[in-house]
Amino acid sequence: MSGSKARLDAIDAVKNYEAPTSIFPPAEAPGEIFGENVFTKAVMQKRLPKPVFKSLMATIEHSKPLDPSVADVVASAMKDWAMEKGATHYAHVFYPLTHLTAEKHDSFFEPGSDGSAIAEFQGKTLTQGEPDASSFPNGGLRATFEARGYTGWDATSPAYILENPNGNTLCIPTVFISMTGEALDNKTPLLRSQQAMAKQAERVLKLFGHENPDAVVSFAGAEQEYFLIDRSFFFSRPDLLNSGRTLFGAKPPKGQEFDDHYFGAIPDRVLGYMMDTERELFKLGIPAKTRHNEVAPGQFELAPMFERSNVAADHQQLLMTTLKKVAQKHGMECLFHEKPFAGINGSGKHVNFSLGNSTEGNLLLPGDTPHDNAQFLVFCAAVIRSVHKYGGLLRASVASATNDHRLGANEAPPAIISIFLGDQLADVFAQIAEGGATTSKEKGHLEIGVDTLPVLPTDPGDRNRTSPFAFTGNRFEFRAPGSLQSIAGPMVTINTILAEALDHIATELDALISGGAEFNGAVQTVLQDIITTHGKVVFNDDGYADEWQVEAAERGLPNLRTTLDALPELITEESMALFSRYGVFNHREMHSRYEIALEQYILAIDVEAALTLEMANTIILPAAVRYQTELATNVSSLKAVGVDADTTTLDEVSGTIAELRAGIATLRSEIDHDDVESAEKHAEHAQEGLLPAMDAVRSASDTLETLVADDLWPLPTYQEMLFIL
Ligand code: ADP
Ligand code: MG
Repeated sequence: MSGSKARLDAIDAVKNYEAPTSIFPPAEAPGEIFGENVFTKAVMQKRLPKPVFKSLMATIEHSKPLDPSVADVVASAMKDWAMEKGATHYAHVFYPLTHLTAEKHDSFFEPGSDGSAIAEFQGKTLTQGEPDASSFPNGGLRATFEARGYTGWDATSPAYILENPNGNTLCIPTVFISMTGEALDNKTPLLRSQQAMAKQAERVLKLFGHENPDAVVSFAGAEQEYFLIDRSFFFSRPDLLNSGRTLFGAKPPKGQEFDDHYFGAIPDRVLGYMMDTERELFKLGIPAKTRHNEVAPGQFELAPMFERSNVAADHQQLLMTTLKKVAQKHGMECLFHEKPFAGINGSGKHVNFSLGNSTEGNLLLPGDTPHDNAQFLVFCAAVIRSVHKYGGLLRASVASATNDHRLGANEAPPAIISIFLGDQLADVFAQIAEGGATTSKEKGHLEIGVDTLPVLPTDPGDRNRTSPFAFTGNRFEFRAPGSLQSIAGPMVTINTILAEALDHIATELDALISGGAEFNGAVQTVLQDIITTHGKVVFNDDGYADEWQVEAAERGLPNLRTTLDALPELITEESMALFSRYGVFNHREMHSRYEIALEQYILAIDVEAALTLEMANTIILPAAVRYQTELATNVSSLKAVGVDADTTTLDEVSGTIAELRAGIATLRSEIDHDDVESAEKHAEHAQEGLLPAMDAVRSASDTLETLVADDLWPLPTYQEMLFIL
């Protein structure tokens, strides 16, 4: 019986678990605590001298360069504020290329000459740090002899207090760069790409007659999906614990249609968790709105209000940390893996984005006047052009070993990057393509010319859940990013490819106008040209249909099914030229990103393969053999007393055990033959050798799960993990 003990103990622990109640005073309204732990604009206004405040606001709100002379004053005000909030330490927070968040903590206190401790925090400590951090991946950008990395204050993302029962920490969002100034993180390129996009957007806005437009920024709102399971189950599943997903587990008899169970199964415990999480997020100034998802059992979603993409990216990281931390307090584990459970829906992170500024508002919002709409269509056309030209890069920006389990299955968008515009907008573009007779679908006929574009509704109403890139009325939604991912990568790509498209548009308009064309005609020509050349990327039908795969191929759209198909997009001549032209990545940086992504891919699959082997040998096989012995003993004792023994079950179990052993042998030899000659070869072997071998082991094991006596089965089952919360 000992083999099954862990599982049975876990079930008991879950049944007896008492969720914490009244964790926080119910009287505390969210409005009271919002931003409580943030060095907000209001706090700065109160604590900083007026000129310093104004200078800092110009950087934060209008993208003006940071004046270094403000650092000392800001540092001192920040320290006083933080210490009043109980902070004893400060940390430069940065975002290495592992999709995680890193912090280096230092004490405010330094020994004084008289032996006492004095609180010190100067401008230079605020603006620059030197964490050793040499173990973070750098893709060859840091040779060991120059293994230094520097962190630098990002004034545009607010500092905050991280609470801990043992003392609070002032957290300062920073970039992380090498000694040579090359990016080792996700934030640096996001800031660079933002700047590149803003510059080109400004050119377009000026052509539209806005003389002094405020800096354009990209906004992002990410919908985070996640699973919750009880921690007792989590700890008795080495696969979940070490790789984030179940490497074994038979599909439960009811499959995907557990929807009915789902609502019944949402206990107060999960609601309590959500409220607690929301409260923590509010304190950190993260505008969260929670709700649950109906798709898979145990799966939920949290979508914060959109913010500037740089702040949204930082907040998204903090949100993931918070979701995990609060879950533990509630005896649960929060899983961000894209496919923790086979056979039921996985988790994504839809990234909604728009462009805008304080003078023009949202540039992806259809306006009230034809002039506004012409501008709106130009920005939409920029999106169409860039997604068509650089679909492969968008695909590469979401490529990972874990997201491969989700993309292309009938739950996530297909790996083909296309755009959904909705009927109304698609119709307008179709007419532009035909020469500019612009009528709105329901309204009557209108004259040719941009001035007479129809008034477009702000919400076209129709939705298409199968499209990877969908217009949703006032923004685009990129649905391919995975739940584990930082949103910085996708946003860097979006900003950069938009910079290129807006650059193209501004340059074309300039040329046409200086060639004597009047403005409306020039806009018409550019729009027509874009939709004719790039309209192939627009697809308004079912992206899950098999016919789409065929049609997309005919349209020449790439279908990069796996990470290994997608990653080479990062180092094509065209991609490298694009990123270096807009100052986002130099060639070395592009190569380093490619190498790190490849390394991460190999690492993820190598760990899973080793775990599969170990669990099969030490957990699954022993349980199966125990049951086999029990059956064999039964058969022989029956025979001994002359009873006819039925050996069907024994034969079936023995046959599957033989399959399992064969699978184990193959997996072991694949692991032994890991080709480490080059990263590419190694990765290819992971995909072609390890993954299929793991599947074979799993398949035999999952069959055994349906045969072996329940009291002997060692691993918590899908049914248990997904339903007993
Ligand atoms: P749905 O389920 O319809 O996709 P949700 O309400 O779950 O919508 O999520 C919408 C997300 O889009 C939220 O994070 C929201 O803040 C974000 N969003 C809304 N408007 C914009 C915008 N103009 N720019 C960027 N993100 C936006
Ligand atoms: Mg959505």
